[in-house]
Amino acid sequence: MYDDILIPLREILHNNEIRICSNPECKKIMVEGYVIENGMEYYCCEECLHTEITEEEFIELYDDGEGDSYYTEWDYCIHTLKAINKLVEEAPVLQAGELGIVPMTNINKLNK
Ligand SMILES: [Zn+2]
Repeated sequence: MYDDILIPLREILHNNEIRICSNPECKKIMVEGYVIENGMEYYCCEECLHTEITEEEFIELYDDGEGDSYYTEWDYCIHTLKAINKLVEEAPVLQAGELGIVPMTNINKLNK
């Protein structure tokens, strides 16, 4: 029903490598955070990470930097990010719908 918004948005997110927190209670747009198993899941903060993965499990996955799970900060274009954030903010369907994305509230504090 909302495919005309969802499909282009998914594409924009994908093309710009923008990640959404995997915690279903969170789903924030991320500019930094945890990558689990090379992108199987993403978590924006420790609290979200620990909804699925314990500290011990993460340490094991991280494997002293040898594993495919780690914390990182991504390169992103602030203009693209702002445009996407605005799109989500102005489309409640994207926040409540299948994607359920939560817009960033601190986006204006990012400086890039
Ligand atoms: Zn989160």
